[in-house]
Amino acid sequence: MPELKPAIGNAGAAMKAATGAYTPSDVSPNRRVQRRYSIRLWSVRHSRLLEWFYGRFAHVFLLLHPLWKAIGYSRAEAPVTFVEKRVKGLLFDCRMCGQCILSSTGMSCPMNCPKQLRNGPCGGVRANGNCEVEPDMPCVWVKAWEGSRNMTKGDDILNVQKPVNQSLRETSSWLRVTAEAAAMTETIKDVQA
Ligand code: SF4
Repeated sequence: MPELKPAIGNAGAAMKAATGAYTPSDVSPNRRVQRRYSIRLWSVRHSRLLEWFYGRFAHVFLLLHPLWKAIGYSRAEAPVTFVEKRVKGLLFDCRMCGQCILSSTGMSCPMNCPKQLRNGPCGGVRANGNCEVEPDMPCVWVKAWEGSRNMTKGDDILNVQKPVNQSLRETSSWLRVTAEAAAMTETIKDVQA
């Protein structure tokens, strides 16, 4: 039961904080599952490879548009979300915000920022590049910048992101991006016809 330890740790830290007891500054009360965290850092280090792979994956998903349309996008939502959540959960510690911007953030998921900032770091990044809220975690935006420098379209990190639309949580970004791309392709075809 690898997830049990952090849960107990968090509860213990919260109880300790409630008593006003001293908590060492270098110990995170929200310690992450170390295995996932290591994989997340691997994804940032291999951002260029993942960018390349995602480009091909998105293309295949778009080619499958007639299939999604035949099934019905709404009916495909549950099984695709199930797979997306597990794959991206493993690789990026994805929080299923439903509006993925990994391609613009060096493959570092901004929803892992405790403040969930989508447009760069807060002013609290520590001198060692770690988070001010979780001192043992590198700032996701420091990692985002590092990852973006390896990517072909890394300068997309400079794009201003919209606020999170909470109504899209737990929905599939893959399907939405595909549906939007398909709709745009069809509009262009209609204009040209
Ligand atoms: S940006 Fe959203 S969809 Fe993308 S990995 Fe992070 S939580 Fe998941």
